[in-house]
Amino acid sequence: MPIVTLRDILPLAQTKGCAVGSFNAADVSMADAILDTCVQENVPVILSLAEVHYRYFDLADFLTYLRAKAAKLPIPVVLHLDHGTSFGVIRQGLELGFSSVMIDGSALPYEENVALTKAAVKEAACFGASVEAELGHVAGGEGNLVEGTAANPADFTDPEQAARFVAETGVDALAVAIGTVHGPYQGKPHLELELLAKIRAVVSVPLVLHGGSGLSPDDFHQAIARGIAKVNFFTENSLAAVQAIQELLAQGRPVGYPDLITAAQARVREVVARQIEIFGTRKMAE
Ligand SMILES: [Zn+2]
Repeated sequence: MPIVTLRDILPLAQTKGCAVGSFNAADVSMADAILDTCVQENVPVILSLAEVHYRYFDLADFLTYLRAKAAKLPIPVVLHLDHGTSFGVIRQGLELGFSSVMIDGSALPYEENVALTKAAVKEAACFGASVEAELGHVAGGEGNLVEGTAANPADFTDPEQAARFVAETGVDALAVAIGTVHGPYQGKPHLELELLAKIRAVVSVPLVLHGGSGLSPDDFHQAIARGIAKVNFFTENSLAAVQAIQELLAQGRPVGYPDLITAAQARVREVVARQIEIFGTRKMAE
């Protein structure tokens, strides 16, 4: 199946009342575990590579591998650049073969975020790629696995500003800040569902939830019912994979490197399958 963009799958998810998982991979074994699970579950997938993870792989080689693999799969696959922070990174990603990019200007003042996002939208159009942006700011560093983060209400997305932002930039999807954080949570997560409903009422493009790890099934159901169509998910996969390796080592018998990778992949597959069920992604095929 050809590699697709967010425009090809998120509006349908919105119509069906479900979400598509945007699962981050930081190496080939993790990407394989994610893609194989989505084939098994027969659901579309957004396979994401985050700029903060570029240090773990050669981007050109990884994308060449992923494009070849995805093209052979019987499911729609979006190859998405997660949290590109500059125009240069976006352009490089598009040239190397991402079908979708996120430009993250959420730490910038509003007008600068608009200008950066507009430039990314214009560039992506030359490649037929889709663009996600973020307004308001989801706290916590991507790739953070240690310290719990608390959401900051001052950074939550303003509905009127979100409507203006989408109209001004022409983005295909908008990441919103409604109480989630990247990495582990400090205390119990609390989603501002009324705020999400208000944003949904005035913004036409599909909405994106970052910081999915650590939320309950009910949190996801409530968020999806109020217009979330894409959920970013990484931390829990990473922690679960490491736990699987620790459990294997704790058995005290000699194991080889491939055994560790295989154990980690098996656990990632379990977590991804569980999340697909929670997101209701199989509704896409109904
Ligand atoms: Zn994010």
